[in-house]
Amino acid sequence: SKHRLDAVDVTETTCGYCSVGCRFDVYSKDDEVLGVRPTDAEHAPANDGFSTCVKGKFGYDFVNSDDRLEQPLIRENGVLREATWDAALERVATELSELTDEYGTDSIACFASSKCTNEENYLMQKFARQVLGTKNIDNCARLCHSSTVAALKQTVGYGAMTNRIEDVANTDCYLITGSNTTESHPVLATRIKQNVRDGADLIVFDPRKIGIAEHADQYTRVEPGHDVAWINGLIRYVIQHDLHDEAFIADNTHDFDELKRKVEPFTPDEVERLCGVDPADLASAAETIATADTCVFGWAMGMTQHAHGTQNVLALANLALVTGHLGKPNAGLSPFRGHNNVQGGGGDMGTLPSTLPGYQPLDDPAVLDAFEDVWDERPPAEVGLTVPEVFTEVHEGNVRGMYIMGENPALSEPDIGHAKDALEALEFLVVQDLFLTETAEHADVVLPAASFAEKSGTFTNTERRVQLVGQAVSPPDAARQDWSILQSLANRLGYEWSYESPAEIMDEISDLVPIYGGITHDRVAREGGLQWPCRDADDPGTPYLYEDGFNFEDGKARFVPADMGEPGELPGEEYPLTLTTGRVLYHFHTGTLTRRVNGIMSHVGESFVEIHPDTADQLGVSDGQNVRVESRRGSIVAAARVTDHADRGVVFMPMHFATGAVNELTQERFDPISGIPEYKISSVRISPDNA
Ligand code: SF4
Repeated sequence: SKHRLDAVDVTETTCGYCSVGCRFDVYSKDDEVLGVRPTDAEHAPANDGFSTCVKGKFGYDFVNSDDRLEQPLIRENGVLREATWDAALERVATELSELTDEYGTDSIACFASSKCTNEENYLMQKFARQVLGTKNIDNCARLCHSSTVAALKQTVGYGAMTNRIEDVANTDCYLITGSNTTESHPVLATRIKQNVRDGADLIVFDPRKIGIAEHADQYTRVEPGHDVAWINGLIRYVIQHDLHDEAFIADNTHDFDELKRKVEPFTPDEVERLCGVDPADLASAAETIATADTCVFGWAMGMTQHAHGTQNVLALANLALVTGHLGKPNAGLSPFRGHNNVQGGGGDMGTLPSTLPGYQPLDDPAVLDAFEDVWDERPPAEVGLTVPEVFTEVHEGNVRGMYIMGENPALSEPDIGHAKDALEALEFLVVQDLFLTETAEHADVVLPAASFAEKSGTFTNTERRVQLVGQAVSPPDAARQDWSILQSLANRLGYEWSYESPAEIMDEISDLVPIYGGITHDRVAREGGLQWPCRDADDPGTPYLYEDGFNFEDGKARFVPADMGEPGELPGEEYPLTLTTGRVLYHFHTGTLTRRVNGIMSHVGESFVEIHPDTADQLGVSDGQNVRVESRRGSIVAAARVTDHADRGVVFMPMHFATGAVNELTQERFDPISGIPEYKISSVRISPDNA
């Protein structure tokens, strides 16, 4: 909703940074954003009246940045030049048609965007499947929680957080692992810290002594790469000491005996040998978790971004099932998602190569019929390529053109040297974005899009809550909302899309996607957000999942025992250190937005590498000194930060910077089930940089 206050416009909306989904009011005047303020608690279930974090509060300057793209660009004689919309759209339509005619529909790959609205992402996958007829549609969720989705679908049924943020704020106990919560999900961390102050137990297992560990009752440092060992070790301890929830297991699960057998080798001594966890720590964590009335299991990239990321999450799901912490308030499996709309736009809307919107299977003729009825075109029934597979297939000559909406793979892919070669090798690349990103620099056509403050629609936050996005200001000059750009292109390619608003697009989504069946913009506005599954107009939505059984026909969850794999790369003589990557509070992902906010850059303006004091001593490196970090893929320079946050032999770098870009170093090693890259482990060497 939008109203005027003392000649200033006030627009209620949802934060465009992370998936917590804080709500705030944007204050604007003469189409310029002046500031933001948290909205009333009753309209803000995620932040519940808590103040937004530094990104939400001060991170909106990019909206008014001088760097914004204001006109379409077309490459001519090697140079990107401003062009009219008519010329740019014509070029895109012509090039995509020619590629399709010459090499087939699957020669084109489309990347949707977890930053865009649900409505825009629904249209992106519709554009790919209906208009272009390609099976290749994916998005950056592949790089963050695809292993979570794969594991949770197999065990409990839905690839999503089982509970509410409200439950995270009120549980009796936490196991948080592989989540730098205070920096990546700050407002969620504020609510966790508040609950811990009120008496909840907090257990943190992590290779780095991160901010949330400072508040923990138990912090246990683990060596990176063998998480299945300590989680299976916890499960074994729980079962051996009769701390498992026998009644829950008997009534609600399959294959417990198989799990019991598979965790047997993970004795406390073996766990210590594999990942350095003290047996006393293992015992106390197992007892606290198993005897708590309620427990929330929270995790993020530290669990998922491994060559065996799906196994890590399977192990966590097994632990939650063994201890019966599911299907009730204040408990559950809580993957903390990344982007503002990765749950919705990156998953629910079907921007995935293996499922249609609402996770509906590609191989079900009845589902394909339903889409064909509405689209007058049958979606391709074959599974398409994942993001990393697309890059490989470009090198193989099987993908010739790409359409990238609001993503920056030139910085976010592992081994970006290889990814940039692929972007260059394409016959045609169109990028739709706010800025001339590192990816857009390789494009043949760049289409200027709108930021979260310049559009309306919905985002779905980490707790499956669909919330409204309100348009506060107009896009700059000729820039346009992503859904409207896609509609113009579809029209040019002969498809009569005629949506007048994102609300109309949502009506089509609710027709075709059963878990969104009862969601309309009017209801979301009236009811302050709706959590899926919300199947019809009378369905109030689902605050926590599995109260009445798991999402399988027989209502029972499956124990799928997790196998322990080795990391893709282990430290050795030539590259003796393990590099792990992650985030800092002030920045977001590849920094496209936050590197354009002066207040943020004045806090953290460049990349750095955290090194333990003993390791720094051995290397002859002092705090603040520039060091060269080299892997088998590349070599970069960054300032050393000497700190005991990281363990000896393990170094950490943030992923937000284009200079000293850490993905020059990371490896193209993928989880075989989900295709997620192993960003969390690369072998490197470090030396003082005397240049
Ligand atoms: Fe935005 Fe996330 Fe910060 Fe909330 S916690 S203000 S959603 S970035």
